[in-house]
Amino acid sequence: MSIHAPHLDVRPVRAFSDNYIWLIDSPRAEALVAVDPGDAAPVIAELRLRGGSLAAILLTHHHPDHIGGVPELLRHWAVPVIGPEDARIAQRTRTVRGGDRCELSELGLSFEILQVPGHTVSHIAFWGHGALFCGDTLFSAGCGRMFEGTPIEMSASLTKLRNLPPDTRVFCGHEYTAANLRFALTVDPYNGAALEYLTQVDRLRAADRPTLPSTLGLEIRVNPFLRCDDPTVVWAAEVHAGRPLKGVAEVFGVLRAWKDQFR
Ligand SMILES: [Zn+2]
Repeated sequence: MSIHAPHLDVRPVRAFSDNYIWLIDSPRAEALVAVDPGDAAPVIAELRLRGGSLAAILLTHHHPDHIGGVPELLRHWAVPVIGPEDARIAQRTRTVRGGDRCELSELGLSFEILQVPGHTVSHIAFWGHGALFCGDTLFSAGCGRMFEGTPIEMSASLTKLRNLPPDTRVFCGHEYTAANLRFALTVDPYNGAALEYLTQVDRLRAADRPTLPSTLGLEIRVNPFLRCDDPTVVWAAEVHAGRPLKGVAEVFGVLRAWKDQFR
């Protein structure tokens, strides 16, 4: 299996009210890799149901709803825990940094690590096989809250993700798409792609189905946080701020603060 394997088999496991733990099927072995297992129970239940075993755990950042299930999973399967350098991730057995390649060769999996600070200072994303596991950095039609970074850092992180191939499938940490789209359409009310997407999202959510994965190509069209250089988005941010804004980071900072207050 090359790193260009066209399509990973990835399934969502729901946790808490709106988290997704992603389970990646190894193309080479009867085993799965869990991304951000905030809770062990639904992962164990899914693995029992499918009859596979856990082979590795990938972590994007230290928040409890992304790592809380790790100790319990390790009691069932002694597997590598791969995550960013951060003392708050006690169970990590292997540290990866931006620019590293995370090779799980026995599983036929290989990911490039992207350093994407902003939501947290040490947040990383895993990119490979046309799939992006981006934790709480990028959401469909939105982005994570900026808990530990500056607008300059976080907008640079989002630009890094935006520059990946448009057919990249985007696996985010939460089901926030419907609420995000309502904000996106407040910023950019005549965005035809976003309006069309809202219909699709409302239909999926009414059927209690995930809206994810998204694709980067779709996000570039509908997600205002990836379009902080688009004149329509810049204008909306300037009207909201009541002053002229210079550059992508400043526009991003205004949008993020606006979204924090948005109901
Ligand atoms: Zn988080």
